[in-house]
Amino acid sequence: MTTLQTKGTILLTGGGGFVGGQILREALESGYSVRITARSAPSAQRTISHFPSYPSVLSSAIVPDIQSVEAYEPAFADGAITHIVHAASPFVLTPEDNVRDLLNPAIKGATVVLEAALRYGNGKVKHVVATSSFASVINISEGMRVGYTYTEKDWNPVTWEQAATADGVTAYCASKKLAERGMWDWMESHRDVGFGLTTICPPWVFGPYAGKLESTKSLSESVQLLNNIIDAENVPPFDFGGYADSREVASAHVRALEVPGAAGRRFIVGRDYRYQIVVDLAHEAVEKGDLPKEFGNRLPVGKKGEWVDSYHIDGSEVTRVLGVQYRELRDTVVDTYKQLIQARELEAKA
Ligand code: NDP
Repeated sequence: MTTLQTKGTILLTGGGGFVGGQILREALESGYSVRITARSAPSAQRTISHFPSYPSVLSSAIVPDIQSVEAYEPAFADGAITHIVHAASPFVLTPEDNVRDLLNPAIKGATVVLEAALRYGNGKVKHVVATSSFASVINISEGMRVGYTYTEKDWNPVTWEQAATADGVTAYCASKKLAERGMWDWMESHRDVGFGLTTICPPWVFGPYAGKLESTKSLSESVQLLNNIIDAENVPPFDFGGYADSREVASAHVRALEVPGAAGRRFIVGRDYRYQIVVDLAHEAVEKGDLPKEFGNRLPVGKKGEWVDSYHIDGSEVTRVLGVQYRELRDTVVDTYKQLIQARELEAKA
């Protein structure tokens, strides 16, 4: 693998996931070499097969256990890694065991990747970007919190002790908060490591997968929410008040590697939305012919235009500092449903 003509080599964990795949696309299109980590060779190969145009700049390293620093040694062995994006983290809202399935891999995995950068990076790693979440920002116990605006200054107050026995959603949110907090604490106690950290905090991420979606069987939890609306009787009730497009989230990660002012900062990428507006926009797209006519009959109608009051999300800093441009929600809705419709057609033929 050559790094000479590229901007450097990113070690990307979780490149096989929904968000990680878009980060991978964005990084390749932005001129980086990328080395994805995966738990197994077939999984790495599956991801690489989605990007046939980049054979010389896309490689993989098998990291069987993201909680082990030593597992990362081969990924750094040739001294190529200049940047790290850590997107791997369990995204499950119904864990069997909160500690084993969520808290340990998320929290230990987050500091282990920093430790690996220090131990094996040969001083070449310039910057680390981690995929945190709005889950790390929001105080769930405050509920709808009408009139409040969440910014990067807010932290989810949940503790490890609470999370260990909490419901799955609370435990997932805690896994993201404690993982991010752990990374900042690690940076605080390792001030001379030579690399900076930026964290990206999106709410629900909608929008397309970067590669061809061939099945709806193992969708990311967030895409599953929009998939669930197809053939549903009712528009889903409010759960979280914010969304981001997968391509905006990817752009934020890659911009954070490049913009000097990004170091030491966390960025919310996201804006307010409601499921009702998603459904309204999908119906509008059907009327305009941007989604198939028959698809309109498979969507609930709900109460057109209804906007239930809740907190707001301020995702403006990511535009001001990193230059990330938000898309129209309509484009996100259309592109997500086009891909889901196509995947369902493929499933029906199989
Ligand atoms: P996916 O489930 O599609 O991807 C998760 C990725 O993390 C996969 O690559 C998966 O690897 C990897 N992973 C999960 N658990 C482990 C583990 N124990 N060891 C090693 N790798 C693991 O979810 P998303 O793409 O949606 O999520 C990616 C990141 O974005 C996560 O950090 C998530 O918390 C964050 N995020 C997602 C949001 C969303 O709405 N989608 C919102 C905010 C943040 P494998 O492919 O091998 O399973």
